[in-house]
Amino acid sequence: MDGAEASTEVRDAFHAGPMAQAKLTLGMQLRVRGITNAHVLSAMLDEVPRERFVIQSMADRAYEDVTLPIGLGQTISQPFIVALMSQLLEPSPGKTVLEIGTGCGYQAAILAKLFEHVYSIERHADLAETARERLRQLDCTNISVHLGDGFLGLPDLAPFDAIILTAAPRKVPNALLNQLSFGGRLVMPLELENGDQFLMRYTNSKAGLFEEKLNPVRFVPMIQGLPVKNGPQATEISRESLPIESPKVDSIL
Ligand code: SAH
Repeated sequence: MDGAEASTEVRDAFHAGPMAQAKLTLGMQLRVRGITNAHVLSAMLDEVPRERFVIQSMADRAYEDVTLPIGLGQTISQPFIVALMSQLLEPSPGKTVLEIGTGCGYQAAILAKLFEHVYSIERHADLAETARERLRQLDCTNISVHLGDGFLGLPDLAPFDAIILTAAPRKVPNALLNQLSFGGRLVMPLELENGDQFLMRYTNSKAGLFEEKLNPVRFVPMIQGLPVKNGPQATEISRESLPIESPKVDSIL
């Protein structure tokens, strides 16, 4: 964008109201932090209404670059992390993506604008159902939400061109690596023994599996199996994607 375009954009946003201004600010913050993929920016700022995924009283804060509550003790990820993970998957039309951890469905809705089809697995039946209904209302017809254990993936539908985990395991799940297509990318938060988490990217290349250690992040833990009836439902969700230090992304993008 050149200077003249930028000033027109600023003037239009000023006249369009607070949400347009907030989107403009968020767009600038995302670009400054290394989000350069125009399709990702458009999905985040123009195509998917983040205000529909947060609780109503927070709708006016939907385009701030922060984690927000979405009800039932859950949170929605910070836009920067959603954008960064989406960009790292190197999306293109015609490709498929597998997401582990549907949650409220926001990341899935963004991916739906960037990929041919999104397969998303959630282990909580109530979250899967609410996300399905919300995504249906938003006409996201190229997302299928599956109830199940993401550690297993969806072997019958594999391989996938991209795989994204939005909950953090302690090691890279082998079953998921095996479901990655040739040339495909898996992006995930990995929890180390000391409790720190890093965003990791694995590329399935000719020469073998290529690993990149990227930004420090904070996601909820990835939990094996389906929840037991009457067991804790929401406790592990409240840690999801807490605000993180501004990472240096230039070197890895
Ligand atoms: N992508 C979501 C955020 C997900 S929060 C969004 O955009 O809102 C992490 C989610 O991962 C939670 O909903 C949690 O229930 C789910 N989860 C944790 N372990 C899982 C597993 N083994 N399989 C599937 N989902 C899992």
